[in-house]
Amino acid sequence: MKKSTVSTFAINVFNARTMQKYLDKSVIKSLELSINSNKVISLDVAEKIAQGMMAWAIENDVTHYTHWFQPLTGATAEKHDAFLSLDKYLEAINQFDGKQLVQQEPDASSFPNGGIRNTFEARGYTAWDPSSPAFIYNDTLCIPTIFISYTGEALDYKAPLIRSIEAINNAATAICKIFNPKVSKVRVTLGWEQEYFLIDRALYEQRLDLKICKRTLFGKSAEKGQIMEDHYFGSIPQRVQAYMKDLEINAWKLGIPVKTRHNEVAPNQFELAPIFEEVNIAIDHNQLLMDLMQKIAENHDLVVLFHEKPFGGINGSGKHNNWSMATNTGVNLLSPGKSPETNLQFLTFFINIIKAVHDHADLLRASIASAGNDHRLGANEAPPAIMSVFIGSYLSEILKRLDRELSDKKPSDKGIQSIKDHVSNIPFIFDNTDRNRTSPFAFTGNKFEFRAVGSSANSSLPMQILNTIVANQLIEFKEEFEKILKKNENNVEMTIFIILKKYINACQNILFEGNGYSEAWVKEAKKRGLSNHKTTPEALKSFVSNSSKQLFQKLGVITPTELEARYEIELERYINLIDIETKVMEDMIYNQIIPSVIGYENLLLQNINAWKNITPSKSNDQFSAATLSLLKDIASHRSIVLDTLLVLKKEKEKSHKSIEQKALFFANKVVVVMQTIRTAVDKLELLTDEKSWTLPKYKDLLSSF
Ligand code: ADP
Ligand code: MG
Repeated sequence: MKKSTVSTFAINVFNARTMQKYLDKSVIKSLELSINSNKVISLDVAEKIAQGMMAWAIENDVTHYTHWFQPLTGATAEKHDAFLSLDKYLEAINQFDGKQLVQQEPDASSFPNGGIRNTFEARGYTAWDPSSPAFIYNDTLCIPTIFISYTGEALDYKAPLIRSIEAINNAATAICKIFNPKVSKVRVTLGWEQEYFLIDRALYEQRLDLKICKRTLFGKSAEKGQIMEDHYFGSIPQRVQAYMKDLEINAWKLGIPVKTRHNEVAPNQFELAPIFEEVNIAIDHNQLLMDLMQKIAENHDLVVLFHEKPFGGINGSGKHNNWSMATNTGVNLLSPGKSPETNLQFLTFFINIIKAVHDHADLLRASIASAGNDHRLGANEAPPAIMSVFIGSYLSEILKRLDRELSDKKPSDKGIQSIKDHVSNIPFIFDNTDRNRTSPFAFTGNKFEFRAVGSSANSSLPMQILNTIVANQLIEFKEEFEKILKKNENNVEMTIFIILKKYINACQNILFEGNGYSEAWVKEAKKRGLSNHKTTPEALKSFVSNSSKQLFQKLGVITPTELEARYEIELERYINLIDIETKVMEDMIYNQIIPSVIGYENLLLQNINAWKNITPSKSNDQFSAATLSLLKDIASHRSIVLDTLLVLKKEKEKSHKSIEQKALFFANKVVVVMQTIRTAVDKLELLTDEKSWTLPKYKDLLSSF
């Protein structure tokens, strides 16, 4: 009988099952203990784990190992070393020890550090993250690690994430204990949904913008575009299906539990989603999968585009982050329960999260800021840059009722008691159709879905921020709870209701159930006083406000120095990306677009002359005039392109007082000028004959399957 593919799940992972074969029980036990209680693993235990890992790797024909980490470039990084070593007789032996497992010093001078390290003291080091299992990828043993500077500052996405997990674990566990003293740990769960575009490799190779910028800088919308929206959930083309299958089998081997696949709204757009996991592992898996997706695509002559907006005029791609919390007693804290106690616990977490988003909406917006996402947010089928929370009609009604019926009642009032019973006893049954696809942050029955995250992003940053603001809110709630519990005759339920009611009142302006894509919402949000930071430099500012610095410092997630460094890195990345785009634009215009256009203009000129050479007549004049008018139209767009390109170059040369000023100038000026150029080029694409136009068009790129 053929073996099921599921049986190969995680065969390339050094997980609990594999460990049993290669490690002693006592070693596994100390490892588990260290992971669960965040205790340092002794070198002695690390040594035994290293030996087990190496034995397993060698049995799988692996020759090299690497610390695998997530520097602030956005990609993953590796530096491979062979197990090969020479003994004193110069005989080759395999060698890998505890120290090499625990810590490495990659030559890290060229990773972004935002001024934390001077390059001459480029002593960043990587340190093993035992909570994420090692795996074999590309014939290499990969060990997930954090990446920190010699002075202890985080230089990566993982270290602050782990700190934020600890912060929320402490804060949420303390709240859970009010309801159930047996709860000793709260884990954050994340299920991401990865959207992406697939295009034919041969066509991709012909477009410099796609190759370098991962998005098209020009391109007239295809005639059909997504007007018909017949791609969504349609049958998956065979070539794509073959790719997906290949990808999924390889993902499963790496222990990535990918489960769902389907077409997305735009042509050539697809989505992939796994079963949710603990957030640190879920993010490692997403990063690994993005790499795997590109590699597997090569075997199918395809290219994956993760850019948030690779094509103008059609949907961009996001990475929805489905986020929740689960206790060690097996309860999903955002799953409304059947009993009154669990419903009260649910409401406590639910309303505290809304409060956290309300108080720190600007930080959440900053967490998803990128040059790519600027093109997506607020455009076709993407949530706007305004943060709001959707909770559905059912919960809206419950919150309203809570607010109404608790009004002006004193704690000892009988009425409140009965309302408590009333509200808590409501069986929460959710209608799955009560969804709002236009909200950036939506409650979807048993989790919140942060939909504004960009498809190319490392989810770590939005998750760090979300964990931190929620942890902070839960701490504040607990403090308030303790303060007023006595005043309320130690009535726990009553005290909780009083605080929650206050929160509900305070958060009204962030709750929005309507169409987030509409112009009306932009106006309404303004009236409500909600921010709408449309560009990355504008959005990023809230990272470095005094209150943010205090918040992250207090929770022990990111130090002020690290925040400043991150801010600088993000701004630099933004400027560099746009700078590269302008250079590619210039290259394509001079080397491809203008030659195409002039070639066609010459053809038109020949045509005009030919008409003129025929015995002159009124009708012949009319025919040459028609061609002349087309020629003039083309020539005028051509001159707009060339003139504006000169303006662009001049604007870019301007000097700025600070990197912040420069980034803002790029957002408000350079990007706008680029758009003017694009519009004119797209007109030229329409007017120029197909034979002269050397760039593959949208209609080729988006219908090749
Ligand atoms: P959709 O949003 O498309 O209707 P689902 O609601 O079934 O699909 O799930 C979307 C994603 O949410 C999946 O990756 C799933 O694993 C994840 N998810 C489901 N429950 C949780 C949870 N408790 N915590 C985090 N993610 C979850
Ligand atoms: Mg979803």
